[in-house]
Amino acid sequence: MKIYVDNAATTKMSPAAIQAMLTCFDRIYGNPSSLHSIGQQAADAVYEARTQIAACLGCHPKEIIFTSGGSEADNQAILTAARIGARKGKKHILSTPIEHHAVLHTLQRLQKEGFSIEYLPVNSFGEITPKQVADAIRPDTALVTVMYANNEIGTILPVPEIGRLCARRQVLFHTDAVQAVGHLPIHVKQQEIQMLSLSAHKFHGPKGIGVLYAQKGIPVASLIEGGGQEGGRRAGTENVPAILGMAAALKESCLHMEENSSKVSSLRSRLLDGLLQIPHSALNGSPDCRLPGNINICFEGIEGERLLLALDQQGICASAGSACTASSADPSHVLRAIGLPHELARGSLRISLCADNTIEEIEKVIGAVTQAVASLRDHSPLWKEKCEGLKPFLLK
Ligand SMILES: *Cc1c(COP(=O)(O)O)cnc(C)c1O
Repeated sequence: MKIYVDNAATTKMSPAAIQAMLTCFDRIYGNPSSLHSIGQQAADAVYEARTQIAACLGCHPKEIIFTSGGSEADNQAILTAARIGARKGKKHILSTPIEHHAVLHTLQRLQKEGFSIEYLPVNSFGEITPKQVADAIRPDTALVTVMYANNEIGTILPVPEIGRLCARRQVLFHTDAVQAVGHLPIHVKQQEIQMLSLSAHKFHGPKGIGVLYAQKGIPVASLIEGGGQEGGRRAGTENVPAILGMAAALKESCLHMEENSSKVSSLRSRLLDGLLQIPHSALNGSPDCRLPGNINICFEGIEGERLLLALDQQGICASAGSACTASSADPSHVLRAIGLPHELARGSLRISLCADNTIEEIEKVIGAVTQAVASLRDHSPLWKEKCEGLKPFLLK
C-alpha cells in the first residue's frame, strides 16, 4: 500500500466528488446554454453548484467565475487589475516573492509591459506584516496580491488584515487562496477580500477546475473570448461534471473543516516531533502560523530529491519542493526568499497530509525518513567533510 503525503501537490478525489461527477456524466449531459429541458437541467445543476460554492466563501453566486483551475484564476485576477489600473494610469503592483508561479510569471509579464512590480520581503518564516503593505501602497498602486497560505512551506499570511487595509485605502486586493480554501475558514466579505483564486484539486475535487471570486462591480477581463458564459467573463461551455465535483468536494471540506484540521494537525505534530529527532534537521516556515497538514523540513548534508526517490522506493509519496518546480534543478524560490542557504534549500522535503492519513502511516514515514537520511548521509561526500570538521555544520 502506498502512503500518499503530497496533498499540497494534489489530493485524491473524495467519494462524494466522484459520485457527483459520475451522476453528471451519466445523466446531466446537456449544454447549460441550451434552452430545452435537457440543457436547463444542466444549467440548474451548475446554478446549484455555484450557489453552494458561494455559500462556502460567503459571497453572492454571481461573484463566482468558473475557470480551468487556480492558475487561470490567478492570471485573470491580476490581468483584470492591470487593465483597470492602466486606464487610470496606475501601474504599481505589490506582491511577495513567495507567490506561486501562476502569480509570479503573470507579474513578470506585466513588468515587461511597463508595470512596476514590488515584492515585499518576507521574514525567515515566510511572513509579511500588514504594516509592510500599508507603508508600500502608493497613489499609483493598481493591485496588492498576496497568497493566503504558501504551498511549499505552509506559512499563513495575514490576508484578512491586508484585505481590510486595502479596502480602506481603496486599492484592489487579490489573494491566491488555492492552499487555504477547504482547509482554513474563509469568508470573503468579512475578510474584505475583493478577488480570490481557488482550485478544486487541492481539496479533494477534480483537476482542471477552479474559481475566481470577484467582488460585484469589478469589471473582470475575460481571458477567453467566445460565448457569453460566466456573465461574459469566461467563454466556453461549462465543464459541468467538474463544476459539480468541485461543489461536492468544497461543501464536504467546509462541513468537516474543524474536525479534519484538528486530526491533521495532531498527525503533523507527531510527524514533526519524530523527524526533528534526526540530528542536523530544522523546520522551514512558521512554527505556529502554518497550514494544518504542511511540514517542510531540511536535513543537512543530503539532496532532497534523492531523499524523495528513496522514500518512493518505500512506497511513500512526498515532495522535494513544489510539484511545479520538480523538473528544475534550481532550489525553490520560496526557500531562497526565506533566506535558507542553498545547501539547506536543496536538502528540503515537503510532507503534506490530509485527513485520510493515519497514525500508522505517520510512524512508517518517520521510520523511513530516518533511515533514508542516515543512509544518504553515509554516502554523502559533503556529510563526510562536515564530520571531519572540514566544513561547518549549519544546523544543530
Ligand atoms: C496548485 C496551486 C496553484 C495552481 O492551481 P492549478 O489548479 O493547479 O492551476 C496556484 N497557487 C497555489 C498556491 C497552488 O498551490
